Amino acid sequence: MTQDNHHSIHTCDAIVIGGGLVGSAVAHGLAGQRLQVAVLDEGDVALRASRGNFGLVWVQGKGYGKADYARWSLGSTRLWPQLQATLLEESGIDVQLQQRGGFHICLSEAEVATRRERLHWLQQQVGAADYRYEFLDPQSVHEDLPGLGPEVRTVSYSPMDGHCNPLKLLRALHTANQRRGVRLHTRAGVQRIAHANGIFTVTGGSDQPRRWQAPRLVIAAGLGCQALAEQVGMFIPVRPNKGQVLITERLQPLLRMPTNYVRQTDEGTVQIGDSMEEAGLDDLVRVPVSAEIAARALRCFPALRNARLVRTWAALRIMTPDGFPIYQQSAACPGAFAVTCHSGVTLAAQHALTLAPWIAGGSEQPAIAAFSANRFTPDTPIARYGH
Ligand SMILES: Cc1cc2nc3c(=O)[nH]c(=O)nc-3n(C[C@H](O)[C@H](O)[C@H](O)COP(=O)(O)OP(=O)(O)OC[C@H]3O[C@@H](n4cnc5c(N)ncnc54)[C@H](O)[C@@H]3O)c2cc1C
Repeated sequence: MTQDNHHSIHTCDAIVIGGGLVGSAVAHGLAGQRLQVAVLDEGDVALRASRGNFGLVWVQGKGYGKADYARWSLGSTRLWPQLQATLLEESGIDVQLQQRGGFHICLSEAEVATRRERLHWLQQQVGAADYRYEFLDPQSVHEDLPGLGPEVRTVSYSPMDGHCNPLKLLRALHTANQRRGVRLHTRAGVQRIAHANGIFTVTGGSDQPRRWQAPRLVIAAGLGCQALAEQVGMFIPVRPNKGQVLITERLQPLLRMPTNYVRQTDEGTVQIGDSMEEAGLDDLVRVPVSAEIAARALRCFPALRNARLVRTWAALRIMTPDGFPIYQQSAACPGAFAVTCHSGVTLAAQHALTLAPWIAGGSEQPAIAAFSANRFTPDTPIARYGH
């Protein structure tokens, strides 16, 4: 990157707005294509899903009604070991990826029926050889999930699933990016984007306005995507969806594999979650919601009754109207891309290894046509958790 001191403009090959999991993964891949990359991030004042999530690298159940999303997620889990190895080598950080499989716990016959229908449809679409799952009796999974409660009707198991430590993932991406020469600018909230002669000029910064220029621009700013994308002629509708999480003290190794409601982290704590709530930009923890997710976790694992809770938080997911990702290049300003999704942990490998090379111009467009923003208009209704 060069800096023109006279005009105080930083020039580079690609600007990525947003230093969360999505922007950092894309920046990682762009730098892997030998592009000089600047990542601009708002900093600590920002709403950041990447610091408050559940850490699942998950496939089962995803993509109901849009099989391309199931395929895309599955593809990401297959690329994940490569991402993990690269991050370990370049950052020295082990993101604790475990892909032994995962369980979805059903607490009622109605939940079992919905689950069966959903997984059956997905398997038919994706193919039985690739999309693997089975329904298991709670007693038969005793070794992996000891202490399931009497209310558990059945569990669905899939070897496709896993989890990681999402904070280590973010840290590893930032560290590896630095090693690849990516410049991360914090306190760099972007206000304005201009486009002329194929070059984007981005103005931001919380103190003195700063400017960056590049022929490529990636808007990966989470809940900030919509307002920024408007400036380059794209309609990227996103809204917050709130999730609360509870963390217990560190416990002896208990759960060998993650479940949709409860997982034991590499550090021994048990993470309990996560709620889903349409609450606007409110990211405060609310006690009734905590009580609800704690009660559900106790129905799954009654022994957690004796575990002490040490932490809780709420964070905001980034949701499109149908819950599926958006990957879009601007028609009005070619070279500008919008990238957003609500499963930035699971999809980190696709973003770094498949999407970024395409954005960099080094590869054919991957199978992302289904994720074009053109499927939305301002009148598109919100599908509740259709992901
Ligand atoms: C409770 C919860 C549980 C979840 N569980 C999982 C899970 O198990 N598995 C999974 O795959 N995903 C999960 N997710 C989703 C995952 O956390 C998100 O998909 C991911 O973190 C999104 O990353 P992001 O970079 O798009 O957004 P964010 O982390 O929100 O980052 C956006 C960044 O953009 C920056 N920004 C915004 N506006 C501007 C601007 N104008 N200028 C400069 N910078 C700007 C902000 O500073 C911020 O750092 C969960 C999310 C939540 C909330």
